[in-house]
Amino acid sequence: MQEVKKPRKPLISYYVIVLGILLLFNFIFMPWAAERQVKEVGYETFMDMTEDKDIGQVEIDQSDNEIVFTNKAGDKIYKTGMVEDTDLTQRLYESGAKFSGRIIEQASPLVTFLLSWILPIVIFIGIGQYMSKKLVSKASGGPNSMIFGMGKSNAKVYVKSSEGIRFDDVAGEDEAKENLSEIVDYLHNPGRYKEVGASMPKGILLVGPPGTGKTMLAKAVAGEANVPFFSMSGSEFVEMFVGMGASKVRDLFKQAKEKAPCIVFIDEIDAIGQKRDGRVGGNDEREQTLNQLLTEMDGFETNNGVIILAATNRPESLDPALTRPGRFDRRVPVELPDLKGREEILKVHAKKVKLDETVDLSVIARMASGASGAELANIINEAALRAVRENRNYVTQADLEESIEVVIAGYQKKNAILTDKEKKVVAYHEIGHALVAAKQTNSAPVQKITIVPRTSGALGYTMQVEEGNHYLMTQEELENKIATLTGGRAAEELVFHTSSTGASNDIEQATKLARSMITRYGMSKDFDMVAMETVNNQYLGGDTSLACSAETQAEIDRQVVELVKKQHKKAAEILEENRDKLDELADYLYEKETITGEEFMKILAA
Ligand code: ADP
Repeated sequence: MQEVKKPRKPLISYYVIVLGILLLFNFIFMPWAAERQVKEVGYETFMDMTEDKDIGQVEIDQSDNEIVFTNKAGDKIYKTGMVEDTDLTQRLYESGAKFSGRIIEQASPLVTFLLSWILPIVIFIGIGQYMSKKLVSKASGGPNSMIFGMGKSNAKVYVKSSEGIRFDDVAGEDEAKENLSEIVDYLHNPGRYKEVGASMPKGILLVGPPGTGKTMLAKAVAGEANVPFFSMSGSEFVEMFVGMGASKVRDLFKQAKEKAPCIVFIDEIDAIGQKRDGRVGGNDEREQTLNQLLTEMDGFETNNGVIILAATNRPESLDPALTRPGRFDRRVPVELPDLKGREEILKVHAKKVKLDETVDLSVIARMASGASGAELANIINEAALRAVRENRNYVTQADLEESIEVVIAGYQKKNAILTDKEKKVVAYHEIGHALVAAKQTNSAPVQKITIVPRTSGALGYTMQVEEGNHYLMTQEELENKIATLTGGRAAEELVFHTSSTGASNDIEQATKLARSMITRYGMSKDFDMVAMETVNNQYLGGDTSLACSAETQAEIDRQVVELVKKQHKKAAEILEENRDKLDELADYLYEKETITGEEFMKILAA
């Protein structure tokens, strides 16, 4: 009964407003509008019009002491005050005026009353009743949802996942799958766990860079367990009004409990789960939503079958209260795929397209080092699109290789016109990188060198390929990498005795590497194993913040410069020693525009 009464509260104010409008309408607007019809004129105008015989009808209203009259045509109504005028009637008669009934027709008072009072009230009551019915039916999500269901969670529910995603669709990520298959097992067979007294984690946090398949994994868990799956993004909880988000959280959990066992998936949980750091002007709404989430997670029994999965790529920004045991007590890293993982992901997505028999996906996986699952899916799709553009009905190795370059460096620029000199400089620059890389024994071999300009702004690039998986890099390898990065500029200096702007990206990367060697990897003699920098968001770009005194900062800067300088010198020496090869290779590249790693090695070894 209470539930029905509650929503009526806003209706009382609704009726008050309606009554106000009616009063205004009937007492102010209507008389005003009626007044406007009738033009008030002076008595002399009336007399003039009488003289001119321009009077149609006349009504003399003794009680109000006024004369209402129309012109001859009868399309204008005038009004004037009465004055003492004895032969008025005579003159009017002579002017041909008609003394007929009322000019301004007055409807019967009853009809007027019905039309202007009763009818509107009946209409408004009808609308009010209809709205109240709607409100009652929507009022299931707590008191806040009274206002047109704004506080209702709009979680998408995937009930049956028979055609949905399974673990097999998520390639690689074996550790994450293993971890999550325990949840699936639990949902299938909770008794086994209860028998031993083991309880499932309430929440599992999937952590990793964007596009690594976190959402897919969550869906796959639901698909494997064959339970309902509620999916919602963290940002959907954030509403304009304080308290709405909290109400949505309540509603989501209410729905989930009704459907248990089930899985609730909150994507991008950092949108609501950020640290409550008490900043001035903090976000009240977000904090309330977070508090509600914390309360809800505490509020349900571990073994009632609701399991919460959440995904984020900013785990360090989450509130510690959210990540403590009892809430999100398990953290599953979903990292970028390794070589094997990349090949598997390519295979999964390649099933959707028609491949030429000669396609070797392992080569593509090798070339696409550092790509996420989403990027690999994109590479396959770009290749298929290229095949269509070229009127083929199957995808070739060349399509795939080109699409990697498109994903890395953008499309080929069709009408970029480099001068002859520029093209030469770019050729030397790229061969400089490749030669330095090849001559340092530990550097990865070159896969491809090209000087075709790309839409990303790159005038050319050298694609290096790592042979196997690299989990660790030694100091020497890092130094070689810096040397390789400086190789382009070193070649320009050696051949043209000048510098160009083409090396800006190399410089950035070399500096970043050198800096992290000194501040984070403990590869400087002076600082030993002391961290001078901390990484803020490891999955999104990896910004760092310094944690040292100003003097140390100056020393770090000095050492970074020294390190890069040393490698730059080394690169210059390597190129000088191999000047003839440098010229030969650069000429060849200038001629061909794109050369493969094999061609490069052949010329180098000759
Ligand atoms: P995230 O939630 O981690 O940002 P998604 O799960 O939304 O990433 O993945 C985006 C897309 O990338 C998926 O739709 C899928 O096509 C592809 N993808 C990512 N990882 C994988 C994987 N391990 N196996 C197969 N496809 C993947």
